[in-house]
Amino acid sequence: TEYTTDVVVIGGGGAGLAAAVSAHQNGVKVIVLEKMPRLGGNTILSGGAFNAASSPRQVAQGIEDSVDKHFTQTYEGGDKLGNPELIRTLVENAYPAVEWLESLGMKFNAEVFTVLGGLWPRAHKPSSPLGTGFIETYQNYINSNEGIEVLLDTEALELIVVEGKITGVKAKGLKGEVIVNANNGVVLATGGFGANSKMVEQYNKSWPSLANVKTTNHPGATGDGLRMGEAVGANLIGLENLQLLPLGDPKTGSLSGNIEQGVENRIFVNKSGNRFVDEGARRDVMTKALLQQEDSFLWIVLDSINYPTPETRNNFNETIEELIAQGRAFKGDTLEELAGKINVDPKNLVKSVEEFNKAVKSGGPDEFGRTLFDAPIEKGPFYAAPRVPTIHHTMGGIEINKYAQVLNKSGEVIPGLYAAGEVTGGIHGSNRLGGNALADITVFGRIAGQSAAEKNS
Ligand code: ADP
Repeated sequence: TEYTTDVVVIGGGGAGLAAAVSAHQNGVKVIVLEKMPRLGGNTILSGGAFNAASSPRQVAQGIEDSVDKHFTQTYEGGDKLGNPELIRTLVENAYPAVEWLESLGMKFNAEVFTVLGGLWPRAHKPSSPLGTGFIETYQNYINSNEGIEVLLDTEALELIVVEGKITGVKAKGLKGEVIVNANNGVVLATGGFGANSKMVEQYNKSWPSLANVKTTNHPGATGDGLRMGEAVGANLIGLENLQLLPLGDPKTGSLSGNIEQGVENRIFVNKSGNRFVDEGARRDVMTKALLQQEDSFLWIVLDSINYPTPETRNNFNETIEELIAQGRAFKGDTLEELAGKINVDPKNLVKSVEEFNKAVKSGGPDEFGRTLFDAPIEKGPFYAAPRVPTIHHTMGGIEINKYAQVLNKSGEVIPGLYAAGEVTGGIHGSNRLGGNALADITVFGRIAGQSAAEKNS
């Protein structure tokens, strides 16, 4: 089958759908190719945290923040390996992207929070569970406007090049070959390679072998876009920068079952019941510290202020009692009782919590350098849940400029080719802040759609 449209978007995750809607809003027709039987990518599985500074929500909560602070934390949090121009674009356009999503009908909660490894309370939380709100919002736009066609079960295989310009995509659908010609250009939004264990092993430099480490990623995150981009001369950068989280589910690697509600009100202890890291630190710092602990295993420990009612849900839409019933969380009316349930030394656990509570009162920094605190852990019942390292994000990828145009190895624009989202590299450096991925993919997805809609760019 052969189609012709203005803009082809490869990948129906958060970046691709933002690009599709944005291109359409800029007056062109769009076809989205998605290899899986449904839209959503990693966005739909994510906790939904969306960092944006200078938000009126922060002002209402009395939280001090600025676009500059978001810039500095992002840049330094990635060891200054990210491209400052792209980071600037990300942080300046993050709150406008929240407003854009709201203009499309998406709802966010009234309060921002600090997400794991986010370093600051600037994460906006969708009112719908997980990342479903983003995908439903885009889906509603697609349903209620003519001009965006979605081809599911359609895997892009290669980009079509005519005289150095990208003019379309060759793909494979359930019924065979699909060719999509693009009058304007093609947006690569195929995501990262966290679910491709071969590529992970190939590029891994900074972690021990990851052969037995599971992933939070959906199975389609196999790095296809990197291959397709490379075949037409795109420059790939920073592929060695792999992000692990310390809070994977021990059985599946997924983020479900993570009982934390933001970073301020919980601690991590190892199998001996001792704390070992600043739980408000960078993700790489926390995961490296976890890998030093017995069996690379931790317990999240918190109290009932995190679960004030039986209806209270975590970021993954689970109640604590559901998790306890599944054997994925444990409860004790006292810390000693909890220690017995999770088989750690009660004296150590009690001491860890006492020391933590002292730091809460003094405001820190504590012996691990922790400065993010809210309330002490003192109101029973107390809860714990087991977590292990998990592969989460691939910071490297295709090099782009601030217009989301793809660059070749000489730094020149490849005409007709754009990229956005986790398939790109050069923004997050060695370590991405928690809450910056949804901001990144939305900001650059929007830009890519707009750039691709404008002819001759
Ligand atoms: P991002 O966060 O950048 O949007 P995701 O991984 O969430 O990245 O989404 C990428 C989407 O692209 C997924 O839905 C994935 O199934 C899809 N995808 C990956 N490779 C291809 C391909 N070769 N053809 C079509 N879709 C693809």
